Order: sequence, then structure tokens, then C-alpha cells
Amino acid sequence: MWKLLILSVLLEAVFGNENFVGHQVLRISAADEAQVQKVKELEDLEHLQLDFWRDPVRPGIPIDVRVPFTSIQSVKVFLESHGINYEIMIEDIQTLLDEEQKQMSAFQARALSTKTFNYATYHTLDEIYEFMDLLVTENPQLVSKIQIGNTFEGRPIYVLKFSTGGTNRPAIWIDTGIHSREWVTQASGVWFAKKITEDYGQDAAFTAILDNMDIFLEIVTNPDGFAYTHKTNRMWRKTRSRTQGSLCVGADPNRNWDAGFGLAGASSNPCSDTYHGKFANSEVEVKSIVDFVTSHGNIKAFISIHSYSQLLLYPYGYTSEPAPDKEELDQLAKSAVTALTSLYGTKYKYGSIIDTIYQASGSTVDWTYSQGIKYSFTFELRDTGLRGFLLPASQIIPTAEETWLALLTIMDHTFKHPY
Ligand SMILES: [Zn+2]
Repeated sequence: MWKLLILSVLLEAVFGNENFVGHQVLRISAADEAQVQKVKELEDLEHLQLDFWRDPVRPGIPIDVRVPFTSIQSVKVFLESHGINYEIMIEDIQTLLDEEQKQMSAFQARALSTKTFNYATYHTLDEIYEFMDLLVTENPQLVSKIQIGNTFEGRPIYVLKFSTGGTNRPAIWIDTGIHSREWVTQASGVWFAKKITEDYGQDAAFTAILDNMDIFLEIVTNPDGFAYTHKTNRMWRKTRSRTQGSLCVGADPNRNWDAGFGLAGASSNPCSDTYHGKFANSEVEVKSIVDFVTSHGNIKAFISIHSYSQLLLYPYGYTSEPAPDKEELDQLAKSAVTALTSLYGTKYKYGSIIDTIYQASGSTVDWTYSQGIKYSFTFELRDTGLRGFLLPASQIIPTAEETWLALLTIMDHTFKHPY
């Protein structure tokens, strides 16, 4: 195990980008609880180096897992010997990564304005940060850039503020990319930023919102992880912090919040993709938001955007107790999903985190909700697993467009229901 790990670290150092030749994504269908438990056993076999894109939860909910080439035979034999059905969703990850790279390098020309910026391709951290500066320069009356902290590796953490005046107005928070490999989310965040500047003064309903409320948008919420997905490992999810006594890097920034921290639905193993971190707020990327939200004190809606699965979720994740505002949140989620689906027919499910996907402790919106931010929501954007985290760039704009309709619904409701 250690030899393998050291070898892969060395290979990485020599060749730069980690390679995924022959890695497959399997969709496993567990027919009953016993089969779910069997798949969980697989999850515990660290030497297989499995990467669960969708965790085993209960029968009927698909399980997606990336299997390295060297583990494929053992995994398939294991599943077949227990009579568990599976299909191959992605035949070879590296082929998709090569396509993605090819698509990106076809658009390498640097944009000189946000008008010529290419919204239909994936961008690096530097390109997104340049885009933010362009947007601020072009819209000085509307947009400003706030630095809320520095990452573990020392990168600046930026939030765009959209404001038409006033002091400390009630505000809406939107973040994308807290899990770095969910590239369609950062790409959508870029599109939202441009959309806000275009629609203000044009779209009456949206103009009314922005005349009375501020919007804060954090596009790259996990900058170290995002840089790492571009340079080294496209499949990286966590932060890049180091834990003493472990060779494994990073914590899951969506398990690190101070709400049910460390309970079921997060891992205490630093090597796990859902490692909750040393303590609540140990990740500076999380702590920076916590400090910002606390000192602002007037945030009324908080929307944290992930991919994939096509879900709109509200608290709680750590307990099955219903949130006090469950009825209103459920109604609002229903309206938001209806608006989203109206554009391209994309189907979404909605509900509380624990009922809809799984128990997750220490997640973002459980904490924001505990701080009195009633309209706390999490999205899981496209798709439902055909391409998973490797959503083709051709779907960026349609994804952002439909999601915007749901965001508008939530923002409008927040504006019209002051509390
Ligand atoms: Zn995520």
C-alpha cells in the first residue's frame, strides 16, 4: 500500500498530471440493504483506491464509483460473486480528460473584456481571477472584489460583491466550487457574475432585487483544490491542508462546518474524501466564510452550489429532525425546480439533505441555517451520472441558464419575504 502510494507520488512528480488511463466509472445498483452493505465493505478496502462519486446509501439509489485500472478485475469479481448488478458508465476516464483538455486549449486566447470571454469552456484559476478583475473594471458602480482570506497554500480568496448602494443591505450569498473537481459549478459562477451585470437595469424583477439587496458571489471557493485539479489531479475534491501524522492531504470543506461536526456522515480518516478536518472551521477556506457571514450579520439567503445529481436541497443534513421552516423551504424548492425545469426539461429532485441524498454532518447550509439564515440551499447541478464531474463544456451555458432561473426564484422569494 505505502509502496504503491510512494510510487504514485513519484510518478506524479515526474509526469505532472496524474493519469487515469483505463479508469472506469461503474454504476452499481444495490437491490437490497444487504447489497448496500456489501458495497460499503468495498469502500473500506483502501488498497483498491476507489473513488465514490455517489456513495452507497440505500437500495434503489445508484452508486457511482471510479475504479482504477489495477482494481477493475477485483471489483467486478466481487460484485458478480455477490450477485450485485452494475454497468459501465464511463469506459475510460482519460479519454474524457483528453477531450476536455483539447477543448480548453482550442480557446487559449486571453479575453480582453468580459464580452469576448468564452463562457462555454472551462478555465483555470488565473483566468477566472482575470475575468473577475475585468468585470470589476467594466462595472465599477455595481461590482467590487473583496478578499476574505488566504488559502492554506497562500492564494487569495475572493468574493464578488454586487451592490447598488446602501450600507449593509440584506444580502444573498452564492458560492460555487467548494469541491474543486465540480468544474461546471465554477464555470456557472462565472456566467452568473456576467448575467448579474447584464440583467441589472434590464430585467425588472431582478433590478428590484438588486436595488434593495446585495449579492455576494464566491466563484472559486476552494482555490488550492481548483488549482490542483488543473495541474495535478482532475479528480481532487478536498482542500490542500496538511494533517500532522498523516501522509494524506486535505479535508472535505463541506464536512468542516460547525453544525453536527464529526457526527455520522463524515469521516475521521484524513485519507477519506469526506474527512471532516481536525476540528470545525479548521479549513481556512471555511473559516473565512464563517467570519465574513458572522461579521456581515445581514445575509438572508445562502446558496452553496455543487455537482452532480440534479438536486435542490435544504437543511438538515446531520439530523433527520425536520427544519423548523421545512414547509416553506420545501414549497420554495418546488417553485425553484419548476422554474429550472421549464427551460430545457432538466429534471430535479428536491428535499432535505438527509432525506434526499444521505446523512452529511458539518455541511455548509446546516451551519448557515443554524445562524438564522432561513433560505439556506444546496444545489447539485447536472448531470445524473452519464459524465458526472466530467460534464462536457458544451453543457456549461445551458446548465448555468437553467440554474439561474432557480436562483432568481429563491432571490425573489427572499426579497419579498423579509424577516
Ligand atoms: Zn460537492
